[in-house]
Amino acid sequence: MMILDHYLSSACQIASPNCDDRPDPDDVSLLVIHCISLPPEQFEGGYIDQLFCNCLDPSAHPYFQDIHQLKVSAHLLIRRDGSIRQYVPFNRRAWHAGVSKYQDRERCNDFSIGIELEGAISVEYTNMQYQKLVDVTKTLLANYPKLSNQLIVGHSDIAPGRKTDPGPFFDWPHFHELLAFKVASPSE
Ligand SMILES: [Zn+2]
Repeated sequence: MMILDHYLSSACQIASPNCDDRPDPDDVSLLVIHCISLPPEQFEGGYIDQLFCNCLDPSAHPYFQDIHQLKVSAHLLIRRDGSIRQYVPFNRRAWHAGVSKYQDRERCNDFSIGIELEGAISVEYTNMQYQKLVDVTKTLLANYPKLSNQLIVGHSDIAPGRKTDPGPFFDWPHFHELLAFKVASPSE
């Protein structure tokens, strides 16, 4: 797994229009973990791609009527099977965090990378998702020197009271253990 010109080599690339320039393109200093599933708690299908590309059909599911006009994105999505999709290059600002604050800094989109896990706060994540998230995190840490193992948070940490993802089933100790000890996968 490697990053070339801010694109992850092993990801399927789908360009989202929901991004813009970071105020400081060299400031990539926080990783934000999210979860998403569309419709909620249903996996598979292409609805997440459609949401992030502003082409979600509001008639496809009642829930979509509330969200289809949102202008949102993330840098990466890790699906249940571990496959990875990239919507925004890492040097640009994806629109994933919304109103948010990390320590004394607001607008976390400015300086963070957003990773969505396909999932829901009420459901366990898959082993493949942990493995790929660890591989991705190691690769990002190697490419963006302001990131560190300590600068990884959940969306709920930076938008408390407003957001609950990735939720209680995201096993932070397990993730950090894998991050500390797992040998990186061979380059793809
Ligand atoms: Zn989120």
